[in-house]
Amino acid sequence: MPLLEVHNLSMRYTTLRGIVKALEGVSFSVNEGETLAVVGETGSGKSTLAKAIVRVLEENAKIVSGEIIFDGVDILKLSEEEFRRNYRWVKIAMVPQGSMNSLNPVLKIMDQMIEPLVLRGISKIDAIKIAGDALESVGLTRDVLTKYPHQLSGGMKQRVIIAMAIQSRPKLVILDEPTSALDVMTQANIMNLLKRLRREFKLSYVFITHDLALASELADKVLVLYAGKVAELGSADLIYTEPKHPYTQGLMSSIPTLREDKKLSFIPGEVPSLINPPSGCRFHPRCPYAMDICRREEPPLITLDNDHKVACWLYSK
Ligand code: SF4
Repeated sequence: MPLLEVHNLSMRYTTLRGIVKALEGVSFSVNEGETLAVVGETGSGKSTLAKAIVRVLEENAKIVSGEIIFDGVDILKLSEEEFRRNYRWVKIAMVPQGSMNSLNPVLKIMDQMIEPLVLRGISKIDAIKIAGDALESVGLTRDVLTKYPHQLSGGMKQRVIIAMAIQSRPKLVILDEPTSALDVMTQANIMNLLKRLRREFKLSYVFITHDLALASELADKVLVLYAGKVAELGSADLIYTEPKHPYTQGLMSSIPTLREDKKLSFIPGEVPSLINPPSGCRFHPRCPYAMDICRREEPPLITLDNDHKVACWLYSK
């Protein structure tokens, strides 16, 4: 049974400029122990999706349709109190974007780590032990508990954030660009850490990234989002070896490789406004294969072999 199933999720933001259609009919699932990479450019809806799963959406955001089933429970139907008590930071944790800068500079790491545990009724002594164990799991020593954030490097702060995410032994961790703003070496170390934690704690990940190359290090499955809609979904093997959607193909051809001397190309144009997205296929203004039907009608999500799904008229029979 899948651990997480998202069905037909649509979300809107109300802004002064109009209604932003941030997600439209997004569906996917994640099995236990599996990593789903959610890939797309800025403005594709990736972070909105992450926030929807942990129900930390801004006040102007509204889920207008869909279900998020976690471990058999539709978590959108739970009260905030029940979700906070049993799910957020308990069974579902998140490493938010830019999170290493979200540590409170005037509080010691210990106070920041034990707060959510104590709020759940765990004694302070037990919470300190749990936090110390979690720090050791991410390769830090327990004395980090006594430090202030400014006494730690960027990589150490990111490890603290990851320790906070796993200290309650969640089943699912949402990683929103977990290595952005880190240098290349630290990024590689954090990716290795995430792989080890997944194995040791049997974690499932939803790994949000704009970087298809980075996603390949962790992903079992890849969901490519474009302008709030699913462009392509399939096993990582298929997406990397046989990308079908012209947008995925464009992302792939912008990745440099050491093995082949390939010419890099970039997708022209930019992600459209989601207040007035283009008619038909939202990618058509940037697509080298756009046809008349692409400008008129939205392509359906077509299932190819091996449960590989693509939203593109090129594959319609
Ligand atoms: Fe390009 Fe048309 Fe496919 Fe959209 S539906 S990706 S415009 S070919």
